[in-house]
Amino acid sequence: MYRALVEHDGSFEGVFFVAVTTTRIFCRPTCRARTPRRENVEFFGTPQEALLGGYRPCLRCRPLDNGERTPNLVTALLAAVEANPGDRLRDADLEARGIVASTARRQFKRYCGMSFQAYHRARRVGLALSGVREGKKMLDLQLDQGYESGSGFRDAFSRLVGVAPSRAASTTCLYAQWFETPLGSMLALADDAGLALLEFVDRRGLESELTRIQRRLGRVMLPGKHRFLEQTGRELTDYFSGRSLVFSTPLAPEGTPFQRDVWNALLLIPAGRTQSYAHIASLVGRPTAVRAVGRANGDNNVCIMIPCHRVVGADGSLTGYGGGLWRKAWLLEHERKFTSQEPGNSQAELALLQQAGA
Ligand SMILES: [Zn+2]
Repeated sequence: MYRALVEHDGSFEGVFFVAVTTTRIFCRPTCRARTPRRENVEFFGTPQEALLGGYRPCLRCRPLDNGERTPNLVTALLAAVEANPGDRLRDADLEARGIVASTARRQFKRYCGMSFQAYHRARRVGLALSGVREGKKMLDLQLDQGYESGSGFRDAFSRLVGVAPSRAASTTCLYAQWFETPLGSMLALADDAGLALLEFVDRRGLESELTRIQRRLGRVMLPGKHRFLEQTGRELTDYFSGRSLVFSTPLAPEGTPFQRDVWNALLLIPAGRTQSYAHIASLVGRPTAVRAVGRANGDNNVCIMIPCHRVVGADGSLTGYGGGLWRKAWLLEHERKFTSQEPGNSQAELALLQQAGA
């Protein structure tokens, strides 16, 4: 990809996008701007991923462009976002800038291939989370300078969770780390109790989920290293390579007792197999609470490790998945490929079934 970039190779148009870490801008492979050095570039498959990575589109090669001249309204919308990328833009805010919101949104969708709302959200989340990606640097900075001196450090904190360290209820931290996987970027949070969250970065509602967890636990979120995050990274690598589908990172998801019961029951479904919502309901001793089990399954914040993707409809249909059905299908297929089917319940499952009187 770097060679294609250096040679302005037009055949890679649309295949990948290149982002420059020093300028925080992303481009088409054929952009005529000066070629960045290899160590300063990062590649993405889609503009959305580049946005989620904290980059903004280049004004020169216009990576969102569908080949037409950019409509003025689209240019105006992009400028409105860049004027204050972290804020939300309501129709009234657009109208105040002389932009007819409904027309502009329609044109944006047609021209950029994604809704303006989706664009702005990706840009906002990308900015908020880019601090996490820079975690190591920020942690070093903190260790070097101490809390008092670094107002930039506190700003980065505020962007991520909306609470400055001095106002947090506890001095213990939830450490955050970013992982690249074949299914997209994932964010992980952990403390000494275990892994609290493992989610795809583009999952809808991730921002509010982070805020919720942070509030419930009264913790400061700090981009940085933790032994459970390191273990998570190793185990994810093994999982995606098929070397091992078993996880042993301690888990500490935040939830109600009922949610935790459901999540514990999910852990009993081995890789390569699926179960129905009704089966999980009977495992937790609430055979009639199938809907509530479905909701608790969807509320799982520790993706993949708590295998909510292994629960399917009674007729075997995939039903839903927070990270998108295509990911659920991919995970199940991946696990089938690397396991042999063994019929019957596992020992642990049988024990739980007996306990529940089922
Ligand atoms: Zn460019």
